[in-house]
Amino acid sequence: MNRKGMNEEKSILPFDHSYHGVSAPLKRKCIGCGEIKPRKNMIRIMKTYDTNEIIIMPSSTHFGRSSYLCYNNECLKHAIKKRRLQKTLKKDIPISIINDIAAKLEI
Ligand SMILES: [Zn+2]
Repeated sequence: MNRKGMNEEKSILPFDHSYHGVSAPLKRKCIGCGEIKPRKNMIRIMKTYDTNEIIIMPSSTHFGRSSYLCYNNECLKHAIKKRRLQKTLKKDIPISIINDIAAKLEI
């Protein structure tokens, strides 16, 4: 009966690092139309974990909860109408942020 072996647990995750090498395109669901598309073709809206700020198209140095939208005004309108941004980010979205998103869509 030599089973004090709690420290055997470290052998459970030998291949954990392989997650970072995934080459499949990351896909995300648009909060407007609900379609699933490659993340690089979408506009990303993030609420940061640390400051609770809303950032549009954050750089990789930001971490937080993200929503994705197609580059499409209809998707933005739909998301606003259904309050999807508020729901997915769990925060009220100021009109200035909405305007900023709209401005990105009109490039
Ligand atoms: Zn969409």
